[in-house]
Amino acid sequence: MSPKVLSCDDPQIAERTRRVPAADVFVRESVLQEMTDHADDGLADDIEVLGLLIGRVYRDARGVYAEIHRTITGDLIADRVGVRFDTDSPDAFIDAVDSLEEGESIVGWYHSHLDFGCVLSDIDIKTQTSLFKGFGYAAVVDPVRREFMIYASVGDGIETARMIVTD
Ligand SMILES: [Zn+2]
Repeated sequence: MSPKVLSCDDPQIAERTRRVPAADVFVRESVLQEMTDHADDGLADDIEVLGLLIGRVYRDARGVYAEIHRTITGDLIADRVGVRFDTDSPDAFIDAVDSLEEGESIVGWYHSHLDFGCVLSDIDIKTQTSLFKGFGYAAVVDPVRREFMIYASVGDGIETARMIVTD
């Protein structure tokens, strides 16, 4: 399993000026709903949840940015303080990755925290920098505190991303 993780140096990234100049990422309202519903389902079982953010990547004068259109997930191994994909049972996940349409990429991932807020843990930071070096998003939902945050890889670091919610 080697899902294509994009590079911001990819020459195939289309040019398109972002609709809101100060935004780092555009997220469909349905994506927020999918993530919060998934986190609520996990909360009911007292577990964290995890999934991938699927979208399209564009370039403009301010740099590379993404529009996030949907999420995918798979079988998870999870408890109250951690979650990962079940590598013994990856079929659903591989099917989802195979379902990527032309021009779609995995642009990030999301997971939930149960009542410790949306700050990235050391493990989260390691995950983000190893999977999405230089470009990509990490969203965190806390269904207990009703909080949401999205972060972006910028250079070697991770910064809070300015998000615009779209229809
Ligand atoms: Zn975390």
